[in-house]
Amino acid sequence: MSNLFRFAAVSSPTVMQAHWPERLTPYLDGEIERFLFNSPQRLSWLVEQYGSPLNIVWPHTVANNVAALRTVLRRHDVDCRLYYGAKVNKSPGLVQAAVNTGIGVDVSSLQELRDALRAGCDGARLCATGPAKTREFLTELVRHRALIVLDSPEEFDELLTLSQLLRVTEPVRVLLRYRPSFAQASRFGLLADEIARCLATLDARSDVLRLEGFHFHLGGYEPDTRVAAFTEILPLLARAREQGLQPVVIDIGGGLPIQYLSASCYQDYLAKQNAADYRHGQVPASFYPYGGWRSAADYLEAFLSAPIGQGSVADVLKQHGLILAMEPGRSLADQSAITVFRVTRTRRQPDGHHVVFVEGSSFSACETWFNSEFLIDPLHIFSVKKGARPTPGKAWIAGHSCLDDDVITNRLIHFRTVPQPGDLLIYANTAGYQMDLLENAFHRHPLPVRLCAFKGKKGELIFSSDN
Ligand SMILES: *Cc1c(COP(=O)(O)O)cnc(C)c1O
Repeated sequence: MSNLFRFAAVSSPTVMQAHWPERLTPYLDGEIERFLFNSPQRLSWLVEQYGSPLNIVWPHTVANNVAALRTVLRRHDVDCRLYYGAKVNKSPGLVQAAVNTGIGVDVSSLQELRDALRAGCDGARLCATGPAKTREFLTELVRHRALIVLDSPEEFDELLTLSQLLRVTEPVRVLLRYRPSFAQASRFGLLADEIARCLATLDARSDVLRLEGFHFHLGGYEPDTRVAAFTEILPLLARAREQGLQPVVIDIGGGLPIQYLSASCYQDYLAKQNAADYRHGQVPASFYPYGGWRSAADYLEAFLSAPIGQGSVADVLKQHGLILAMEPGRSLADQSAITVFRVTRTRRQPDGHHVVFVEGSSFSACETWFNSEFLIDPLHIFSVKKGARPTPGKAWIAGHSCLDDDVITNRLIHFRTVPQPGDLLIYANTAGYQMDLLENAFHRHPLPVRLCAFKGKKGELIFSSDN
């Protein structure tokens, strides 16, 4: 496929083109790609109307992501409860899309809880895995019969007291979050001896709290660490059952990987990159793994088929009559949004490269928690007079604030033609923590608008506000 497309704008002598720069082309959902390449003019109008940056959310992608995981679960005949990790993106449209697929929602605040209820999520399909829940939040969770993951002995005691105070008529459903032996430096989860104490209390107070099972959530994307934590939980499960409790769930948290671009393309870039690829002449020390070798489905497959004892993890789950639970955030929002920046100005620097200023800041396309630049190329949409020659060049992308570090892409991007004022740069796949986690009204710029794209009855695309 040629990566250069041409489009005649209706009543203008110029042609709008969409072009991928050369090196780090991201994967793009087919429907989004068709829109960007077939209707660049419409995108340009949307930016005129709603401003830059513009976040466009695509809810259909969530169903694709859920379906990919369900295929693996079915192959292993494993019973699973999926919860969408709502903190990954502020879009109510994505919460709605998750609820529409029939999965639950993992909420971490009163606001996320309300969004989930508004989307039609049944209270019993809510879970709350986050630590340090306030009393007000716990109260709402209890009221809606949500599944509550207890993170510490203190939280355990508080919920016990609260449930008695609220005079619950049915025991509150809880999971105990376990801190694996290899993650002792973490501040999350209960140690094995703390779990033992909780089990004794649960046994005595089964009128107020009901143990549904155990939970853990780990950083990184290695299935092996999940298998190790899973293995450590099995004796705790046996112990709980010996005490007459009936845990049925092992919850392995979130942290399923996304592939932003092809692994080989990404690895090849990392192997070949050098100081000259960056505007400041420095190769960053590390990056978030944008092009790993596993998709979320591959990760789940690796986890379920990992050997443990005589069989696989899937076999163990079935032998013990267990339900697997997961709270994927990022991976369920794979491909679920694009972030569109309009170019304000382009400057040629003394080194011959260009700096492109966009309306918007690095807070709308950054890897907040990983101290990493978002290492993919933006799609460039530009208008040119028919027959005009391209002016190729390398450029880096800066935000519109006065801070030196407000840089969206430090890497020098190889543009077929250097972006000009009014052009659009589109970052793909920004739904997973990139687009709105750090957004703010610095300089009193308004927060970016978020639109939801969905299909009308005749298959036409409709954009609506997503608040
Ligand atoms: C953030 C979080 C998740 C979701 O993590 P992803 O990496 O987005 O899948 C799941 N569980 C817990 C406890 C979390 O804190």
